[in-house]
Amino acid sequence: MDKNIRICIVGGGPAGLSAGMYLEQKGYENYTILERQDRVGGKCWSPHYNGRRYEMGAIMGVPSYYAVKDVEDFCGITHDGPKLNRNYKNAKGEVIEPFARTIGNIIKNPWMLKMKSQLKKFGELLETKYKGYDINGHRGVAEGRYEGYAVTPGREKVEGVNPNLKDLAMPFKQFCEMNGVPLVQKIWIGPFTSFGYGYFDEIPAGYVVKYLDYQTCMNFVKVNLWTWKEGTQYIWEQLNAHLKNPARLGSNIEKVERRDGKVYVTVNGQVEEYDKIIITAPLYIPGTRADGQKGMVDYFDAREDEKALFSKIDYERYDVQAVLTRPEDHPEISYYVFDNMVPEKLGHLMVYYRRWKDQIDQVITTYALRKHKNSREIPYEECRQMVQDDLKIMKNPAREVINEWSVYYFPHVFSDDYAAGWYDKVEAMQGKYDTYYAGEIMSFGDMDETAEYSRELVDRFF
Ligand SMILES: Cc1cc2nc3c(=O)[nH]c(=O)nc-3n(C[C@H](O)[C@H](O)[C@H](O)COP(=O)(O)OP(=O)(O)OC[C@H]3O[C@@H](n4cnc5c(N)ncnc54)[C@H](O)[C@@H]3O)c2cc1C
Repeated sequence: MDKNIRICIVGGGPAGLSAGMYLEQKGYENYTILERQDRVGGKCWSPHYNGRRYEMGAIMGVPSYYAVKDVEDFCGITHDGPKLNRNYKNAKGEVIEPFARTIGNIIKNPWMLKMKSQLKKFGELLETKYKGYDINGHRGVAEGRYEGYAVTPGREKVEGVNPNLKDLAMPFKQFCEMNGVPLVQKIWIGPFTSFGYGYFDEIPAGYVVKYLDYQTCMNFVKVNLWTWKEGTQYIWEQLNAHLKNPARLGSNIEKVERRDGKVYVTVNGQVEEYDKIIITAPLYIPGTRADGQKGMVDYFDAREDEKALFSKIDYERYDVQAVLTRPEDHPEISYYVFDNMVPEKLGHLMVYYRRWKDQIDQVITTYALRKHKNSREIPYEECRQMVQDDLKIMKNPAREVINEWSVYYFPHVFSDDYAAGWYDKVEAMQGKYDTYYAGEIMSFGDMDETAEYSRELVDRFF
């Protein structure tokens, strides 16, 4: 492709900014990043409080975040944040050890033996029966193929045929049961459901195991995690500052028209002409959101195939509150509440995060989900109140909420569409209308998967 083409990138989050970086590294310097908000980072949002930054969005990474590492190297920064640590409470607010059965005499403990053997079996199944499962993105999965780059520092190109991969379309719960490893859900649920990614009876296994490949999950178990002192937003602020063409903030895209091999973008009242467009912003948002976010199909001249496919996308309603407590009510550490990670406890507090262990004048952030495929969606205000009531039960009541948002989170499709090859149909459309689709839906809703997808997109098409 001609290195001088004009490329418009919609969105200045991890996917959009890293697309800019990888394009630039490949010699494409004529790109423009349009960002709707007055800051970059998207769901990596780290506001200031009392001289420090807290996290309203992304918090952590793992050592296999190779694309994030590319960004760190590009900017000369590193993961220098406070060490994460956690404890567990039950729904009554009592400190518990959910893996108590893991302590003590394993030989005499049948439950623990079962868990250990299922964990081992699961690791082996992923490597053998599901070879190719951990490739970034979902290309080929529904057809029983894999094609992409290995999750290794060298990111070697790999491809192959593996009909078993079709199983990844089924909900993770069913997938585990079918493979005789139901207990592994108890380990995988911590960094999945409480991190806002939905429930195992509704989310296709493909999303679960691509994000939480065996190594990544073990890193969470062992708390072998990365954080950033200035917050995850800092990574993307730094990247933006190092790009030849930093994002244009406050860009209100009113219209996108694609005709005669050109892309016309009306932004803040002016029409701009491009040759290609990469969209990393939401493709489709069912209903109306209180924050006014729109899906691509609403401001692009969306074609019938785009509308038909993208209308299958759903997303999680993940609510975060940043609260202050009285000093005597400040939690000692971050807490996970496993009892609340089931659909029956929708809207309840699943985890709360104390970021700065050395200071109690900092905020605590709380996390709750309020949507499940087969349940009544809990209204925002109701969920907000439930979380505050839960904090009282946890004996860490909030005295004030200083920040909050309900996030358009983890766009995904459900099992039927996954099995019917939704991803292969969208992948086949890449470039068709001089348009490329990237961002969370194309891989998974975390910083690294989205940045890695942008890397591959640039590699494949530019
Ligand atoms: C509470 C929470 C906790 C999380 N924890 C983690 C974690 O610990 N680790 C991790 O790796 N990830 C975590 N994530 C997920 C991670 O933040 C996202 O997956 C990642 O930011 C996705 O990057 P993206 O660029 O695809 O999308 P986004 O970050 O959503 O960025 C999209 C950008 O597009 C912009 N945009 C939208 N519409 C338009 C438009 N019409 N025109 C122009 N611009 C537009 C948005 O303003 C935004 O800046 C968390 C997220 C949240 C909310």
